[in-house]
Amino acid sequence: MIVSPLWLKDPLAILADGAERGVVVQDGRIVELVPAGHEPATAGAQTFDAGNHVVIPGLINTHHHFYQTLTRATPASLDKILFGWLTSLYPIWARLTPEAVDSAATVAMAELLLSGCTTTTDHHYVFPTGLEDAIDIEVAAAKRLGIRAVLTRGSMNLSQRDGGLPPDSVVQDEDTILAQSAALIDRHHDPAEGALIQIALAPCSPFSVTTSLMRATADLAAYRNVRLHTHLAETEDETEFCLARFGCRPLDYLEQVGWLHDRTWLAHGVHFDAGEIARMARAGVTVTHCPCSNQILASGHCPVCDMEAAGMRVGLGVDGSASNNASNLMQEVRAAFLLQRLRYGVEKVSHKDALRWATEGSAACIGRPKLGRIAPGMAADLALFRVDELRFAGARDKLAALVLAGAHRADRVMVGGRWVVEDGAIPGLDLPALLHRQEAASSALHR
Ligand SMILES: [Zn+2]
Repeated sequence: MIVSPLWLKDPLAILADGAERGVVVQDGRIVELVPAGHEPATAGAQTFDAGNHVVIPGLINTHHHFYQTLTRATPASLDKILFGWLTSLYPIWARLTPEAVDSAATVAMAELLLSGCTTTTDHHYVFPTGLEDAIDIEVAAAKRLGIRAVLTRGSMNLSQRDGGLPPDSVVQDEDTILAQSAALIDRHHDPAEGALIQIALAPCSPFSVTTSLMRATADLAAYRNVRLHTHLAETEDETEFCLARFGCRPLDYLEQVGWLHDRTWLAHGVHFDAGEIARMARAGVTVTHCPCSNQILASGHCPVCDMEAAGMRVGLGVDGSASNNASNLMQEVRAAFLLQRLRYGVEKVSHKDALRWATEGSAACIGRPKLGRIAPGMAADLALFRVDELRFAGARDKLAALVLAGAHRADRVMVGGRWVVEDGAIPGLDLPALLHRQEAASSALHR
């Protein structure tokens, strides 16, 4: 961390009002915005020349499954909608090993960092025998890379034997899940405002866990003051499943199991009606929009502007790399911009809206008010993009160009005042060795 003050001076553009001459960071936080015509008031600041950079708040990824980077473009999963896609992949994921999870998590977080992401979540819910330490492996990888992480302890206890989708070998029983979840919170959850590692609880979905486990998980999360996450209203098939199995729609079920409150953030939220959106807004439930995954699986599109108009907060997520295939959050910003603009029109959706979803909106999803904005007192989590490459040549509004022309790689990234990406690379990461490792792990899974 940079302890003495550092002035990121005279950026080409910056996503903050009154910071035309840059920002000063110190002790892991933003301490000052420097307006046009001014010098920093902070004494003794070192200078970083940001004259070639567009500066935005670090992007926050609020839905992912790191392990799926091992099953990108898997032939058996191509051209399928969600349920068929899942059943084609579960037998492959059942072969996951600790080494494979370590490689996949490192790949996913490295790709995210290089796309300008400073905080990520992950949702790991596949626990075959021998993989009980999957989240500990992810914690270690996040610490090595220096990314902020909210790692969710996923779960499944409804297998094919009980009418669920996953095979028996990747599910656990309720007592084991709850005991391991509590122990994981003990080991890793940091409740502090500036925490680098937090834990949340995340049953996979209504069609892969029991009602009892949904309720018990909500109770444990309330008792330990951690957040709750799950997939909900992703596809029409899920609505049909809930109607057939529970006699109600997905959101009614969520309310019945004690999840309709401001501790809960949901992935996807594609198939909610207006009344359900109003209920979620009143309850403080937040939603992660995953535009690439929703398009690849043809699940539909999340009604983001209707949700915001109702008072909900909406964040962005790349979702797992078996559905999105990429783990690039800046590309996800562009995908959200394009998809939502097509739905709502040019007057309702600007490049700044899409960037807001990936920053302030995502921060609300994970309950982190000190992340997602460039302002005094906020965490010094910043992404700096160069625009001196072919795709930006001729662009006038440099900030708009990041989204409109498709920025995909940050030049510098700072997390809590520490540079974790420099000159487009992650210091200390042997990228060729990582790619070799990932290819070996992926080949072994597909044997
Ligand atoms: Zn997902």
